[in-house]
Amino acid sequence: MSLIKIFKRGAIRRTVLFAGHVVPDSSRCVQCGICSDNCPIEIDVRAYAWRGESIKKNECLTCGECVARCPRGVLRFEKTDLFTTGEK
Ligand code: SF4
Ligand code: SF4
Repeated sequence: MSLIKIFKRGAIRRTVLFAGHVVPDSSRCVQCGICSDNCPIEIDVRAYAWRGESIKKNECLTCGECVARCPRGVLRFEKTDLFTTGEK
């Protein structure tokens, strides 16, 4: 793996740790399964994308693999309230 890829993965993970959970746009998903195939803990990301459900499982490592590998740009991270301070 190239240093650039490693850096990008690190950057994605930092973003995710701050940002929260994976959210799909089901209208763009072609059900190829690449996301599920690349999840290191075998979460069925494709099924979440099919249902249009966010992945809020505690098991999710927020590694960013599914988001980075989806060829259709279906998956993104969405902020949770967990890290907000309430400041405007
Ligand atoms: S990789 Fe993207 S397009 Fe393929 S099943 Fe997963 S969310 Fe859908
Ligand atoms: S962020 Fe990582 S652990 Fe979480 S669903 Fe995607 S590939 Fe799996």
